[in-house]
Amino acid sequence: MEENKKKKACIVCKATSDEMPILNFEYKGETHYICSQHIPILIHKAQALQDILPGMKNTEPS
Ligand SMILES: [Zn+2]
Repeated sequence: MEENKKKKACIVCKATSDEMPILNFEYKGETHYICSQHIPILIHKAQALQDILPGMKNTEPS
């Protein structure tokens, strides 16, 4: 019945709000979730998110 229900989970460690405080942020109009433990990655290591977030890199393959 609820098989399409999307769980709010950290994009890095997949922790859910049952385990950690989860914050959401928007990138390119998409909402993503990140736990309090990984917020420093979001702030200081944006390039580390390139592997995780689709479309984080602005370069297109030609
Ligand atoms: Zn996390």
